[in-house]
Amino acid sequence: MGFKICKYKDNADAIFSFTFDDGCYYDSTLFTLEQFEKIYRETGVKIKATVAQTVNFQSPVLIELWRSAIERGYYDVAGHSMTHCISYSEKTPVEEMRADAKDTQESLKGFYPNQKIATFFTPGGGFDKIGAETLKEFYLANRTAGEQVNIPGKIDWYSVSSFTAKMDRNTSDFIEYIDSTIEKGGWGVQMNHWITEKQEDVFHSQRKHTFIEECEYFAKAVAEGKILPQSFEEAVLYLRKAEESSLEIEGNKIKINCKLESPFLDDVALTIAIDSDKPLKITENGITTLCPSKNGIVLADVVKEATIE
Ligand SMILES: [Zn+2]
Repeated sequence: MGFKICKYKDNADAIFSFTFDDGCYYDSTLFTLEQFEKIYRETGVKIKATVAQTVNFQSPVLIELWRSAIERGYYDVAGHSMTHCISYSEKTPVEEMRADAKDTQESLKGFYPNQKIATFFTPGGGFDKIGAETLKEFYLANRTAGEQVNIPGKIDWYSVSSFTAKMDRNTSDFIEYIDSTIEKGGWGVQMNHWITEKQEDVFHSQRKHTFIEECEYFAKAVAEGKILPQSFEEAVLYLRKAEESSLEIEGNKIKINCKLESPFLDDVALTIAIDSDKPLKITENGITTLCPSKNGIVLADVVKEATIE
C-alpha cells in the first residue's frame, strides 16, 4: 500500500480563501452572510471566510454579529492589531509590536473563546522582516497584499499574498484570479474590506453585483470539484502542518510526525491518500470511520496516529 500526505485537505487540486479586514462593517457583513447562506441553500457549497479584526473597532453589537456568523460556520477570526495604527516594521520598537501581537490575540480570544486566532493580517502602516520575526512568536502566518496565487512549498508564511478587491474591478477580474488559482493548482486568497454599491466607498471595496457573480462562479467551480473553499485560518493550519509533517508506517499503523511544534496544530487533521481498491476502516482515538475507495485511492483524515483495517 502506498501512503501520502495530500497537499490540500480532501486531496483537492486547488483552494481558495475569502478574507475580510477590520471587522467593523456591519451592513456589509450581513450582506456576505446572506450571500453565503443563499449559495449554501442553492448549491450545498459552504463558503467560510476569515475576518481579521482590529480589537478597538469592536463593539458589543459587532461582537454579537460575529459570534452568530462563527456559530453558523461562515466565518472564523484572525488578528488585525489593537488599534490599526501600528506599523509592523523597524519604525516600531520590538517590545511594542510584541505587546500588540499578544494583546490582539488575547483580546480576540476573550470575545470568541472557541477561536484559535492563529493568523494575523498586518494593518496598512508598513511591514518588514523585523515585523515578520515578531509575529512568528505568536502566529502561524501573516497575510499581506501582492496579487499572487500562493504555491505550497514556496510560501513565505509571514507575507502570504492576496488579491485585493477594489471598486474598479469587474466580475471578470475576480473570476480570472479564481481561474488562475485553479490553473496553477495553488492557493488563492482574496482581500476584502466591504461590499457596497456606494461610489464614495472606493477604498478596497467590492461592488455588490461583482461579489454575487463571483460567489456564484466560485460555487460552480467547487461543485465541479475544481477547487475547495477554505477559510484563511483553516488553510494555514492544514498547509503548515502538511509542510512540516512526514508519515511513519508500521504494520497497520499510520503516524504523523510534525516537526513544527505549535498548540494550534495539535488537533488539525491531515488527509492521507492510501492506495487501495477496497474501502478501509480507519480508527483514531477509539473512533472508527469507514472510508470508501475511489479510483484506487482511499482518503482518510488523521490527526496523529491511526490504525487501518
Ligand atoms: Zn485594515
